[in-house]
Amino acid sequence: MNHVQRRGLLLVMSSPSGAGKTTLSRRLLAADPMITMSVSVTTRAPRPGEVNGRDYHFITHEEFGRLRDRGDLLEYAEVFGNFYGTPRRPVTEALQAGRDVLFDIDWQGTQQLGAAMQDDVVRIFILPPSAEELRERLIGRAQDSASTVAKRMAKAADEISHWPEYDYVIVNDDIGKASVEIEAILTAERLRRRRQVGLTDFVRGLTKAL
Ligand code: ADP
Ligand code: 5GP
Repeated sequence: MNHVQRRGLLLVMSSPSGAGKTTLSRRLLAADPMITMSVSVTTRAPRPGEVNGRDYHFITHEEFGRLRDRGDLLEYAEVFGNFYGTPRRPVTEALQAGRDVLFDIDWQGTQQLGAAMQDDVVRIFILPPSAEELRERLIGRAQDSASTVAKRMAKAADEISHWPEYDYVIVNDDIGKASVEIEAILTAERLRRRRQVGLTDFVRGLTKAL
């Protein structure tokens, strides 16, 4: 049981496509019941095996425009010619309940989230161990056409150039090692004094009994 009440945090993971965000996210979600995934909306078509409502909410351009215009998106961006955005309500609800939220969003979304909720955001950038390995992972994922893989490789340098905007940088060589590193970051960030909003009460009770 937690003795001290705390505020939830927003854990953002960005990387060039294929570096391993999705794999690392799934491992973290399986290992830690206090963090939930923010499921984005997107206008891109589902990949084989992707499930609507779990991986993304797959929506039309018209629906996307409506959500954006109503202010229902916490952030949004155009990536590879498709639109992606974060629904606002689930994030607000999780934070209020003291739960953490995990985001797989690009550097544009990370900047917007940082501007909107600065104190609550923790940013992790995932790098591939080499360009060769990145290409192999994109091809090995076997979900995209050769031209899509080429497009993603061409955009990788652009995405990577934003690494200095992140709080932590992890090279995803060994998946087990990278997972442990992410869990360590989450543990430490949860223990930050300002996030432990119940500390004053806890210490007051503690010292009264001394
Ligand atoms: P992203 O979400 O960043 O686009 P994925 O998680 O889909 O990347 O990973 C791309 C591919 O690389 C997948 O086939 C995944 O299984 C593989 N992969 C991820 N991390 C590693 C790793 N550390 N070692 C080897 N393969 C990996
Ligand atoms: P993919 O099509 O491979 O699932 O995602 C492509 C890129 O879009 C990735 O870099 C991913 O992080 C980013 N992305 C996914 N959802 C969102 C979102 O809601 N907002 C933003 N800004 N980027 C997103």
